[in-house]
Amino acid sequence: QSGNASYFKVLVLGATGVGKSSITQQFMTSEYVAFDNSMDRDEEENTVSVLLNGEESTLECTDGLDPEYDLEDFRADAYIVVFSIAHRDTFVAATNILNELLYDIGTDRTTILVGNKADLVRKRKVTTEEALDVALQYDAKYTETSAALNHHVDELLVGMLSQIRFKLNPT
Ligand code: GDP
Ligand code: MG
Repeated sequence: QSGNASYFKVLVLGATGVGKSSITQQFMTSEYVAFDNSMDRDEEENTVSVLLNGEESTLECTDGLDPEYDLEDFRADAYIVVFSIAHRDTFVAATNILNELLYDIGTDRTTILVGNKADLVRKRKVTTEEALDVALQYDAKYTETSAALNHHVDELLVGMLSQIRFKLNPT
C-alpha cells in the first residue's frame, strides 16, 4: 500500500475501565478490515486498513494517552471519547475531555462520544438523550456500543472513517 495518502490517526480517550482497550481490540478484528495483505494489520501498533466504499484507509489507533502528554500536543484525525453508560462519573470525565478537545483542538477534527457497556441495561446511569445533548453541545457525534458483545463497534469504526473523509472533503 505504498503511496497511500489516506493514513489517519485515531486517539481513544476516556476514564479507566470504560472499555477503551476493548473497543480498540474489536476495531482490529472488524469485518471491514482488509486481511488480504499481511501488511494490513500490525498488532503492535494497533494499525489496520479498512476498505470502505471501494477506498482503503489505514487507521492508527492509540489506546489512551499517557498522563504526561498534553491533549494539545497529540494531533489526531479523530477522537473517540468513551464512557460507560453504567458509571456516571465516567460520563462527567468524558464531558470534561470533550470540553478540552473543543477548546484546544477546535471542530475541524472528528469527535465521537461513545457510551460503551450498553449491554448493562439494568445498571444504566446515563440516558441516551442526555448523552446526545452533550455531544451536540461539543460538536461531536454520539453512539452507544457494547465492546463485550461486539455490538455497534463496526458501525463506530465505519461511521468514524466516513466522518473523517467527510471533514476532509465535504461533498
Ligand atoms: P479501559 O481501561 O478503558 O481500556 O477498559 P477495558 O477495555 O480494559 O475494559 C475494562 C473492563 O470492562 C474489562 O473487564 C472489560 O471486559 C469490560 N468491558 C469492556 N467493554 C464492555 C462492555 O461493552 N460491556 C461490559 N459489560 N463490560 C465491558
Ligand atoms: Mg485500557
